[in-house]
Amino acid sequence: MIPVTKPYLPSREKLNQYIDGIYERAWLTNNGELVQELTKRLEEYLKVENLLLVANGTLALQIAYRALGISGRDNATEAITTPFTFVATASSLKWEGVEPVFADIDPDTWCLDPANIEPAITPKTRAIVPVHVFGNTCDVDTINAIASKHSLKVIYDASHAFGVKYQGESVLKHGDAATLSFHATKLFHAGEGGAIVFKRKEDLERAKKMINFGITGPETIEELGINAKMNELQAAMGLCVLHGMEENLKARDAVWQRYEQALSQTLQLQTQPNGLDYNYAYFPVVFENEEQALRVAATLKENGVLARRYFYPSLESVECLGAKADQPVSKDIASRILCLPIFDQLSRKDQKNIINLIETELKA
Ligand SMILES: *Cc1c(COP(=O)(O)O)cnc(C)c1O
Repeated sequence: MIPVTKPYLPSREKLNQYIDGIYERAWLTNNGELVQELTKRLEEYLKVENLLLVANGTLALQIAYRALGISGRDNATEAITTPFTFVATASSLKWEGVEPVFADIDPDTWCLDPANIEPAITPKTRAIVPVHVFGNTCDVDTINAIASKHSLKVIYDASHAFGVKYQGESVLKHGDAATLSFHATKLFHAGEGGAIVFKRKEDLERAKKMINFGITGPETIEELGINAKMNELQAAMGLCVLHGMEENLKARDAVWQRYEQALSQTLQLQTQPNGLDYNYAYFPVVFENEEQALRVAATLKENGVLARRYFYPSLESVECLGAKADQPVSKDIASRILCLPIFDQLSRKDQKNIINLIETELKA
């Protein structure tokens, strides 16, 4: 079976060198040498400051909400977010006692449409949580203006946007915080892992305490915290994957361009803003209708190819998230979308086969 994505596996020799170091130091977690090194390397690579590594991308969101003071008030607060994303964006809010209020997406970029934000604001609104979905940049300037006008925090779920630049700068610089996921299926991974990039140093310092039980010294517990620390084995994997990033990106770029050339005339692709420097993390396509999308998915599956319905269902229809209103644009896109396999090891032959299967099915 050809999966929708395959984790990038770095050189074993390189990983072994890092593991040797872990054994020599006999230091496995709690802000170890490799976590410190990865923090520094990522700040350099991404050209950002105030980066905090955590155990996964969901905790990154939860800690960001806490550090920015929007959570923990038992549904007394709300955050405006997109229904077209992985469930963790919204479930992490609910888990932190913040009611996710969905606002519909733009039909072309599939990111939160800023025009739908202000109508969703209530006296309980504390934050906007947009997603750079599939690595596409949100309308950051308009969102920033709305947030300033209404004194709201902005936390970008940038789980898909590792390395993405917008107008020459890291997209992670936008918002009070931006979060990353380093899950095995993501472009950059640490097996599991995540990070938060804070705008302000004081928020970073607060979050640092929060991820280690609020402990600040051998005998001092300053505030309520939790365990969200990244460990040394994760950091070792992360350092190795970062080492291979250039080669990984080059291979994905080639796959992405071949898909685009073959399919952009017949299928709807995500509209990217001018000035976007993309990371080739995903190749989503939208079909004419749900029936066609499902037919293509079934044909691909019969031929050993697993395209995935990311992101289906649209989250306003997920009962445990407690949404009230329909989100027609998100619902429509979610019903017709498929993400095609894209990873560094995908061969030209396999990709050609995938493209042929889709083209044949579209003509049928
Ligand atoms: C993967 C992902 C997450 C969750 O990250 P984990 O590291 O798996 O916890 C959150 N939001 C989005 C948009 C994601 O794609």
